[in-house]
Amino acid sequence: MISSAVETNEIFSSPFSAWSECLKSIKVGVSQMTFNTWFLPIKPLEIKNYTLKVQLPSQFFWEWIDEHYNTLINNTIHEVIGPEARLAYVISEDNEIVDFKTDNALIKNSPAEIKIETANNKDFESSLNSRYTFDNFINGEGNQLARAAASAISENPGGTSFNPLFVYGGVGLGKTHLIQAIGNKAQSNFPNKRIIYLSTDIFTVEFVEAIQSNKVNDFSNFYKKMDILIIDDIQFLIGKEKTQDLFFHIFNTLHQSGKQIILSSDKPPKDLKGLDDRLISRFQWGLTADIQPPDLETRIAILKRKSVDYGMNISGEILEYIANNITSNIRELEGCLIKLLANASLNSKEINFELVKKTVKEIATDRKVNVSIESITKSVCEYFRLDENKLRDKTRKKEIVLARQIAMYLSKDLTKSSLKTIGLHFGGRDHSTVIHACTSIELLKQSDISIRDIISTLKTSIEINCS
Ligand code: ADP
Ligand code: MG
Repeated sequence: MISSAVETNEIFSSPFSAWSECLKSIKVGVSQMTFNTWFLPIKPLEIKNYTLKVQLPSQFFWEWIDEHYNTLINNTIHEVIGPEARLAYVISEDNEIVDFKTDNALIKNSPAEIKIETANNKDFESSLNSRYTFDNFINGEGNQLARAAASAISENPGGTSFNPLFVYGGVGLGKTHLIQAIGNKAQSNFPNKRIIYLSTDIFTVEFVEAIQSNKVNDFSNFYKKMDILIIDDIQFLIGKEKTQDLFFHIFNTLHQSGKQIILSSDKPPKDLKGLDDRLISRFQWGLTADIQPPDLETRIAILKRKSVDYGMNISGEILEYIANNITSNIRELEGCLIKLLANASLNSKEINFELVKKTVKEIATDRKVNVSIESITKSVCEYFRLDENKLRDKTRKKEIVLARQIAMYLSKDLTKSSLKTIGLHFGGRDHSTVIHACTSIELLKQSDISIRDIISTLKTSIEINCS
């Protein structure tokens, strides 16, 4: 038998030296910001029997690390401390100990209970992220109907008239959160139900693989056996006729047998141009509910809740400043808090107005950096069903001129490119042509509501493609 003194690697008689060795290795693999935000605040407490016990500032902190850096941490401690090494967590809030397990099963050890959560005993993964719950989904006027329907479905999947539930809205407004919350709640209400969540992109990729390996029937039967099928960003079925056809059959089978279907999209069914009419009409059989951008009060409520979850101490005034300056998107509100957390710990600064102003400004810049003229061109051409070359041609056909002017206008609005660069992208046109395009669209927007709609639809799809 090995004595416990030998069991622990002798080099690491102290938790500090063990953890600092791990940190050196982690630092190589992550950005400085990630390192400062998520790894520096971890405090080593004890090393015993290959278990390194550390302290974390909050439950949210733990969930974030578990979700994003589980593999990195496990690999590192195995490499540094030894193959049997484990990390145990104490969360400073309530002194609960949580083990990090390589197989992703989460074991919580608190004095009162030992709870083991695994991905249930099914032959497939639901792919639901347990972070998305109704409890942490803040109510607001903009999401009232969608949330009420979602909640009703989670209590009675397939048994309400909301089948399918079709949730739509702009980017970062909580569609993914809400539809996954249904899955999580339904799974805890009905542990035996077969529930799966996936994005349309994954569905498409899997379908293509099934075709290549001659397993289309297996693929289709797999989804036809679900009790709850949750598919995110269904707008990405546009232009994929074969996938649409297969999805149509899966939809029919599930719907006929009273199984629940939940879909999300960036626009309502009727606006999904290029999608099979049979699908569009089926999407409207149940309930179509939109999510609108949050109003000021909701934004403040979201920031308050999240700052507490992140273990941050921020004044009400500062939260209001953020809520007043980041208005259209909840993902950006969240991003702002995380950036603040990073900036504050990076420079060991407190979170004051100066830091907040700087961070809000950085977010506005990031927004622009992500969007490219190419992605704008692509979205505009998809919308108008044009070949991309047409935008570069000399043609002066009315609808092509309009599409080209809109693409130029959006390039000016959403990227940091100069007028000259924009002109070059659209067939080597002069910068004055770009100015003309921008003014024309600006005027049209004021007089023509359909142009306003087109622009806002395009902005959403460009943002989705770039996020
Ligand atoms: P979408 O799918 O509409 O693009 P997400 O569901 O990914 O948006 O939401 C973006 C982020 O904002 C997620 O981290 C989500 O948890 C958070 N979020 C969105 N809506 C809410 C809400 N009402 N309350 C709390 N957090 C929210
Ligand atoms: Mg989403």
